[in-house]
Amino acid sequence: MSALACAEPLDLAVLIDYWLGDLAPDAEERVEEHLLGCAACSQRTGDFVALTGGVRSLANFGVVRAVVTSAFLERLIDEGLRVREYRLVPGGSAECTVTPSDDLVAARLAADLRGAEHVDLVKCDADGREENRLKDIPVSASAQEVVLLERIDRIRALPARVQRVRLVAPDADGERLLAEYTFVHTPSSHE
Ligand SMILES: [Zn+2]
Repeated sequence: MSALACAEPLDLAVLIDYWLGDLAPDAEERVEEHLLGCAACSQRTGDFVALTGGVRSLANFGVVRAVVTSAFLERLIDEGLRVREYRLVPGGSAECTVTPSDDLVAARLAADLRGAEHVDLVKCDADGREENRLKDIPVSASAQEVVLLERIDRIRALPARVQRVRLVAPDADGERLLAEYTFVHTPSSHE
């Protein structure tokens, strides 16, 4: 691979947290200092960022979730992260949970997004009321899938509930529904 080497490589989980903007300020500072002085870890981090497919500003996505490319997800799995995956088709539903051995949970939402210039990802409660929205998520022209990555510790804290996720295309008259998915969440029983 690369001739660069690091005596104390940053832990992948720490890099992910850094990338998601989820580190405490002092920990973030330590990571930044390390990256400044370490070509090997910078390159590794750069690889991740390059794979995210145009995530413009991590702050836009909040600290708990991010929309990533399929390639980025595959990379995380290759790197040894334990990712619990749910694949959904438009109109589909999944019964989801997490277990203590999962690092991340990924929802792979199949959708035909060709022709949609901008796509928002909207989370709704069981009755379809909007709870939050990721605006203008990165999608490629040929996108057939949206990958939503969630931090496992946040999912773990959720009570049993039904959540709907919608992909919508904002237009002059409001917005057009592209696809809707339903998640029936059950808290982990193996704590
Ligand atoms: Zn390093």
